[in-house]
Amino acid sequence: MQTTTMGLVLRATKTGEADRVLSVLTPSGIVSAIAKGSLRLKNRLHSATGLFCYSEFTLFEGKTMFMVDEAEVREVFWGVHEDVVNMALAMYCAEFVSTLSPTGDEAAAQLRLLLNSLYYLSEKKRAPAFIKPVYELRALTLAGFLPGLVACADCVKYEGGPFCFDAATGLLFCAECAAKRGLAANLDAAALAAMRHITYSEDEKLFGFSIGPESLAHLGAAVEQYVRYCVDKPFKTLEFYHSVLV
Ligand SMILES: [Zn+2]
Repeated sequence: MQTTTMGLVLRATKTGEADRVLSVLTPSGIVSAIAKGSLRLKNRLHSATGLFCYSEFTLFEGKTMFMVDEAEVREVFWGVHEDVVNMALAMYCAEFVSTLSPTGDEAAAQLRLLLNSLYYLSEKKRAPAFIKPVYELRALTLAGFLPGLVACADCVKYEGGPFCFDAATGLLFCAECAAKRGLAANLDAAALAAMRHITYSEDEKLFGFSIGPESLAHLGAAVEQYVRYCVDKPFKTLEFYHSVLV
């Protein structure tokens, strides 16, 4: 059976002499497909089956795996390939969504989010340190890990002074209530506003906020901690991302 779908190449692994096994995020989920001969420069599949290509794929369902019949590239995200930090972050995002393994409507939303993130990264419209927590927190939210950020979970205070985002419970506590629980405040006002924005904003406005470097550091640390609690798996690509940030 043949099917046509848009899809983003999350992984392209060499196999045989010149073939690639692709992991492709489509609007209905992640599929594996082999692109025969695609490593040859003159092969008709070559330009549309590389890492982070967003292409229209015509897939044929084989016995064990899909085969790529046709592929027409729509977006390449060149800027991602030009810089090692960009590449490291894109690879981390790809491993992240592979781990979440979305299906159905969630897959379409995760695909939109990742395409958007790669666009901002590739066009250098936002720094990697900005894109990373936006991507992580939004992807977790789409996957059902919705943090409770409306107000302090104990006293309902919603603004004023530092707050603590408790990654273990996904709840927010004001500094006073946090102290009673033996927790330390880890978010200033701007970092909390950013977390709320990332969690609750519409798709089109997701990247449309600004934040100072100190607050961004708070945001990045809090979100990365939340990732560790939500996703019970160490990411090799995250280690790589941190290792190239020097
Ligand atoms: Zn409180």
